[in-house]
Amino acid sequence: MSEQEKTEQEKIGKKIIQASELDPKFKYEIIQMHGGEKLLMCFQCGTCTSDCPVARFSDSYRPRQIIRMTQLGLKERVLKSNTLWLCAACFTCTDRCPQGVKVADVIRTLKNIAVEEGYIPPVFKELASSILDTGYAYRIPELRLKKREQLGLPPLPRGNPESLAKLFREMELKKLLEKEGE
Ligand code: SF4
Ligand code: SF4
Repeated sequence: MSEQEKTEQEKIGKKIIQASELDPKFKYEIIQMHGGEKLLMCFQCGTCTSDCPVARFSDSYRPRQIIRMTQLGLKERVLKSNTLWLCAACFTCTDRCPQGVKVADVIRTLKNIAVEEGYIPPVFKELASSILDTGYAYRIPELRLKKREQLGLPPLPRGNPESLAKLFREMELKKLLEKEGE
């Protein structure tokens, strides 16, 4: 188990739950949202985790655990967890859940709330800033562009940051990127 994963386990899985960290309203907040309606139907069978392609390669990512923590109202722990962002949105969990819980949608909803509350992992902030500036998810170094030229490769298509900037402005995403979680 990597150091980062150990820290995640300590952060979300193995830590003793204090009554003071439970937000009993959280689950009701989620079931009001699109895709979260069946959250309370989860009976913790673990099918989502056993079929999740990401969980197979991670010691800390467990969709079943995310669902349970959400049901319990461990709002801050869920929203602050980096593992939340490992979901590849493949929808296998949703397809396989015997209770009809839309696990992938619940996770998407949690990520949206995490963004609103300023809990965006730095790597995603970086990606979003790069898209905003260049139209590309990753900044392409000048050196690489020159290398392409030397090799006779055509220039890369230009990104369209202007239209993205408009979209970002409308979504007030920039403000969210600057927001820091408490
Ligand atoms: S498969 Fe469905 S019922 Fe089973 S643990 Fe996952 S969310 Fe809960
Ligand atoms: S949607 Fe996310 S949680 Fe569900 S199976 Fe795919 S990677 Fe796992």
